[in-house]
Amino acid sequence: MRVSIGGDHAGPALKKSLTNYLESLNHEVVNRGTDSTESVDYPDHAHAVAADVESGAVDFGILICGSANGVAMSANKHQGVRAGLAWNAEVAQLVKQHNNANVLCIPARFVTEEEGLGILKAYMEMDFEGGRHERRVQKIACAAMAFILMCLPFSWLSAQNEASISNPIPYAETISATDLENHLMVLASDAFEGRETGEPGAEKAAAYIASHFASIGIAPYDGETYYQPVDLVRSQILGGSASVSGEPLNFLDDYLFYPGIKKEAFSDIPMMVIGDPAQLLETDVKGHAVVVRANEVEGETRWQSGLNDVRTAAAEAGAEAVILVGNDISVIRSRMKPWLTRKSIRLNRDEPEEREGTRIPTFMVDASTTDSWWKDSDIKSWKKWSKKISKGQTVPPTLLPSAQWNFQLDAETEEVEGKNVLGFIPGRDSILREEVLVITAHYDHVGIIDGEIHNGADDDGSGTVTVLELAQAFMEAVDAGQGPRRSVLLMTVVGEEKGLLGSEWYADHPIWTLENTVANLNIDMIGRVDENHTDDNRYVYLIGSDKLSSELHEISELANATYTNLALDYTFNAPDDPNRFYYRSDHYNFAKNNIPVIFYFSGVHEDYHRPGDDPEKIMYDKTAEIGQLVFYTAWQLANQDKRIEVDRVNDFPTK
Ligand SMILES: [Zn+2]
Repeated sequence: MRVSIGGDHAGPALKKSLTNYLESLNHEVVNRGTDSTESVDYPDHAHAVAADVESGAVDFGILICGSANGVAMSANKHQGVRAGLAWNAEVAQLVKQHNNANVLCIPARFVTEEEGLGILKAYMEMDFEGGRHERRVQKIACAAMAFILMCLPFSWLSAQNEASISNPIPYAETISATDLENHLMVLASDAFEGRETGEPGAEKAAAYIASHFASIGIAPYDGETYYQPVDLVRSQILGGSASVSGEPLNFLDDYLFYPGIKKEAFSDIPMMVIGDPAQLLETDVKGHAVVVRANEVEGETRWQSGLNDVRTAAAEAGAEAVILVGNDISVIRSRMKPWLTRKSIRLNRDEPEEREGTRIPTFMVDASTTDSWWKDSDIKSWKKWSKKISKGQTVPPTLLPSAQWNFQLDAETEEVEGKNVLGFIPGRDSILREEVLVITAHYDHVGIIDGEIHNGADDDGSGTVTVLELAQAFMEAVDAGQGPRRSVLLMTVVGEEKGLLGSEWYADHPIWTLENTVANLNIDMIGRVDENHTDDNRYVYLIGSDKLSSELHEISELANATYTNLALDYTFNAPDDPNRFYYRSDHYNFAKNNIPVIFYFSGVHEDYHRPGDDPEKIMYDKTAEIGQLVFYTAWQLANQDKRIEVDRVNDFPTK
């Protein structure tokens, strides 16, 4: 057993003989002083022993002072501590048998050393009787606590009792509006250039976050770094050269291609005209480029509705490409141009990305450039063919003997490294520390667009600085010897704006196994209000809390009812909500792996992804309150005896 012992200046001699006795039986003794007869304040030593008992570091405690009243009073201020005063062996037995005391208090002025030893032996030999005494011991908690406990679900109550979870309020209250503002004034300043993934501003942000973790005493998770490298590829399409049987086509002027084109080169691919997509089923188009007529709506050429069916059927029939021919591609061109030529970033993977639908290369060509294609074929000209189809006539699939498709994509690709920034706080409990609670926010934003810096103060500067404050609150607890029993990973991720890339990378390359990841709390945009909450900013949207674990939902609700009393708005938690926010931030990459999540969010506003998303517009008090709610929820998740259970079938389809 492990025993913590302490007392004031009346007790050193008795303390010494009790220690000798315990050590002779091979028990481990933690000495909390004092060892001198010089006057000291008994609460200092009593609190030290009580804290050992409260945290579960020892099996029981012993306190000694003149009458033993002062030490008992001090120790009993601690949650889960029952300090009982015993002046003879019989009382010592009862204090265990009936009251289940976990701190034994002995009055040094009124007992001899031999009697003191007898008191300890009597206490140690006796067992708690339970039964009616169990009920009474449960009721010892003070009236104010009892009121709170009455509202608690059983799981929380038992967890509280078993683990004697210490009071989170002093730590939660270190999450302050002022600190949040100080951090955000830096992270969302112009110097960080909108924190775009792969750009210098995002690197600066990563360095700022890492240095904050270091400054509050969090060690690098692997002994060396706070970063998890995220392998990315940046690419930009510059154009392409296409030609049909030696006649060149100009990119944008004469033809476009469907975004996401992967295959880079075609040479002399035979071209087969298809009038009706149903013909794809009965025509041998293997190795061919399939030519179809583009849709027209009010004279304007479009990518047609049903195009995906055509593409899928063509791909399944073994075609190499789909070529749409349209009357006038000018409108669609101006719409597509910025899309086609913008820089894009994706994860650098070995394996091809598994996606819905086909990736068959698809082009759109202006009909006026196709005159030479039709000669020597039964179709004569584009106009005639198009007219027949418009009239509903059936035109059989036709090979174009004089036309072969050639194409070469011109694109720049470059490998870049993004960084997730990890603040890892190892758990205090030698067993539970294997389990990890992950708290996330994305620190990247959209950078500079058309020369304007998009500072992303709300998206997601607000979540990022809240994670910094949560890290600091947990470290305050660590410094007070009350660190979380489970490990807590505070992770700010990169690449969210490019498609949740940083969190996807982490989920694919987890540093602590996903099986041992108990939950993910994700914060994205909590600093402002949306149009539905202009009158009262004390609210937060919660998304996902009840999807996988009913216990997580209860814990979250209770943390709010007990401490923060914000209006919890579940509007976006409905599976049929058209905004689909559940899929739109980093928690999704945990949820899809069956890890319970809560997404904290305050909704969108007029500055969403606009240059006006600035730190001056953030409501820091509101942000701090939501941060505290996250902390209280996290505290319970990290400290309760049993890991939360996954007991629900998610009604948000994942994967
Ligand atoms: Zn965001």
